[in-house]
Amino acid sequence: MSYCSVCPQSTRCVQAHGPRPARYMAIGEAPGRDEDIHGIPFIGQTGQEWDNTYLPLAGLSRSEIFVTNVRQCRPPQNRKPSAKEIEMCWLRPLPQELEEVKPEVVFLMGATACSLVPDIDLEIEHGIPRRGVLFGHEYWLVPMYHPALGLHETSAMIELLEDWERLEPWITNDRWQWADDDEKTDYQLSRTAKDLRDYFLKYPEIGFLGGDTESHAGKPYSIQVSISTGTGRIVLLDDRALVKELGGWINVATGSFGKQILCLHHAPADLDIFEQVSAFSFHNQYRDTMHEAYHLGNLPQGLKALGYRLCGVRMQSWEDLVTEPSKAKLLDWMMERIEQEALNPVIERKQLKTRLKVIEKPNGIESALMRIMRHTVEFATYDPWPRLRDLGYGADEMPMKGIKHCKLADVVRYGCRDADITLRVALKLIELRKSAEQRWAVQEEDQDEMYISAVS
Ligand code: URA
Repeated sequence: MSYCSVCPQSTRCVQAHGPRPARYMAIGEAPGRDEDIHGIPFIGQTGQEWDNTYLPLAGLSRSEIFVTNVRQCRPPQNRKPSAKEIEMCWLRPLPQELEEVKPEVVFLMGATACSLVPDIDLEIEHGIPRRGVLFGHEYWLVPMYHPALGLHETSAMIELLEDWERLEPWITNDRWQWADDDEKTDYQLSRTAKDLRDYFLKYPEIGFLGGDTESHAGKPYSIQVSISTGTGRIVLLDDRALVKELGGWINVATGSFGKQILCLHHAPADLDIFEQVSAFSFHNQYRDTMHEAYHLGNLPQGLKALGYRLCGVRMQSWEDLVTEPSKAKLLDWMMERIEQEALNPVIERKQLKTRLKVIEKPNGIESALMRIMRHTVEFATYDPWPRLRDLGYGADEMPMKGIKHCKLADVVRYGCRDADITLRVALKLIELRKSAEQRWAVQEEDQDEMYISAVS
């Protein structure tokens, strides 16, 4: 029995197990009670579930996988190992194991194993292989929910079953079925009526029109459409004449005589604007991809998460897009305010023995602004807007965080992509609904009207 010399515990050091070299390696969190007794990883209830239920779905068997854990000894009361415990442990065996095993594919099972790679978002990425670096070498990394999760939560078990099953074509035929080719996109700002006409006539109709809008500080800012996957056009809403032109095209495409169905992600945020510009009332003649994802179950509802899970595409977050340029604008504004406030210093008069000393000090607002400004520059995660609001500045006075401050090229890419991915997700959801119906034999009378017209 081996005990650890780095952090001696009463539990033993459960060594990794499996062939070396091996094409597959699986990394779990830490041994449980059974593993501690027998000295082999993943042999308790969780391990048996993994061997017998999940691995066969992917066409894998335990004997071809090298199995190890982030932490080699069982933490007291089976708790999650702390960051310090993890670091003490993996610094020794894991890099060496990777060196010996030379895996092509590494399954990172659970949040603890996924934390070895800094940018994995398990909620979004579970079950989807991606190239990534682990201890300086590149592998196929597959973030997976931990198999123990399925023992505690039925809904998680369904996701685990689906994830392992979906890996099967990739494992056996090197085919990842859900990844879209995301190389070429045609995203543009439309500036003229001709731009719009060219766009709507350039691409063949596919039955659906993806749509989205952006707002700035609560006011509508732009409208985006995508008539064909990988494409999109954006019109800024202050160009009234062009907005009217776009409205005409939306009406022609999706209105009473149009053959296409408008697809929005979270329609309550966008539908009013689409109705206003197109002068058409969509009633229930549109699809809401967020709504549909919710009804299918086991899918995230956010567009970015859906885009990744269903179409294999990554999308920039709104925060990533707007935070830096908005802070830059706010810093300029704070500088101006500070200069203004400096005209009203606090005057302190002190009577010295021989003379009166007059001292000028920054007033309270100026000091607070300087402090907020310093924090904004020094700390990337600092949010200055609530502090400024506490000082009494309203949304109408200071530059609010938002899309208006971004470079136009970034707005075009971001906005068009949202419409494009809404369209792509809408198409994938139809495939998923068809396959769910085949699986569960949904009766026609149980399907909703909009869906029937969408797929027929
Ligand atoms: N859970 C783990 O993460 N590892 C094991 O070895 C057993 C259960």
